Amino acid sequence: MGDTDDIFLPGIKLGFGMMRLPRRGLRIDVEKVGRMVDRFMEAGGTYVDTAFIYPGSEEATRRALVERHPRSSFQLATKLFATGVPTRGIARSEFEKSLRRTGVDYVDFYLLHAVMEGNWRTYERFGLWDYVADLKRRGLVRHWGFSYHAGPELLDRILTAHPEAEFVQLQINYLDWDDPKVAARANYEVARRHGKPVIVMEPVKGGILARPAAKVRAVLDACRPGASPASWAMRFAASLPGVARVLSGMSDEEQVADNVATMADFRPLDARERAALAEARRLMGAASDATGEVPCTACRYCCDGCPQGIAIPDVIAALNALRGGQGEQVARDLYARAVADGALASACVRCGRCEARCPQRIGVIKALAAAAEAFEGATP
Ligand code: SF4
Ligand code: SF4
Repeated sequence: MGDTDDIFLPGIKLGFGMMRLPRRGLRIDVEKVGRMVDRFMEAGGTYVDTAFIYPGSEEATRRALVERHPRSSFQLATKLFATGVPTRGIARSEFEKSLRRTGVDYVDFYLLHAVMEGNWRTYERFGLWDYVADLKRRGLVRHWGFSYHAGPELLDRILTAHPEAEFVQLQINYLDWDDPKVAARANYEVARRHGKPVIVMEPVKGGILARPAAKVRAVLDACRPGASPASWAMRFAASLPGVARVLSGMSDEEQVADNVATMADFRPLDARERAALAEARRLMGAASDATGEVPCTACRYCCDGCPQGIAIPDVIAALNALRGGQGEQVARDLYARAVADGALASACVRCGRCEARCPQRIGVIKALAAAAEAFEGATP
């Protein structure tokens, strides 16, 4: 089994995901991000994760982190996005742009981004594995790996074909642990078999696990009174052997404080706590089966490619509000906001681009048809 610590700076296991940053109006609130980053670093945080495709994130990372903290005090991760079919030439310009935007002259962790069934051949066809390995040889990248959203068979095939990949980033959280679509446990076991350190993404499932239903909350509170729901989710991921960092896409200072408190004084889950989480998982799974809520993590990877400009995750959030019993008015208000920023759900032309990009493999077309029917009275 590979050593999970030798490529990481000493520090807490919490990684700062710069994906859901706070905004003031349409712009990222860089001043606030700076305060959040400072708090994270003071607590021993060293790993900061951004990506070429997170809008405004690489620039915000430069201003909040790179220009304000010594280069040796953090490790910066960013990612190459292949879904838009980048040839080697496009890949090169993406990487150069990432360097310019983040203000660094080398990247500590460079990832092939969101490798999945729909795009892994693109990475192969254009030789992008060799491309990132070459960046490492030239000292522009210190370590490289990939983030992954598909099943264990493909992961095994990729790691067998590319044993030089140094780490894998996987979606792992207690709700998805045995979910056949996400295959969190199976993917984790493959990565462990190949001796790769694991970086965890979506430990709180896009915030879903931070807001559990009252019934679930009661189970967790009975076991550990006062612990936040997010702290349970973070501890689940961080307790797994071989997990080197757990990323949290933090959006405000309270979330930083909560995560830092959990991870700076980290205690792995004990048997009683694991049993409580298993019960929470059972209740949540049964509830979402019953309501039909759509497990969208609001990553927004789908939005760019939509020719109709539909604010897909916002429409899905409105549908989930309706199905999850938040009340019709709340759901209608959310839908009105979603279509103020984008097109009506009924404008979907079923081209399928969003579904090809969705790491959660959500049936977006079906969800939008349901939203159109519920909120516009449109017949699917
Ligand atoms: S299927 Fe519909 S929502 Fe998805 S990208 Fe195409 S038009 Fe947009
Ligand atoms: S539908 Fe999929 S790609 Fe789009 S925001 Fe939700 S999880 Fe992300």
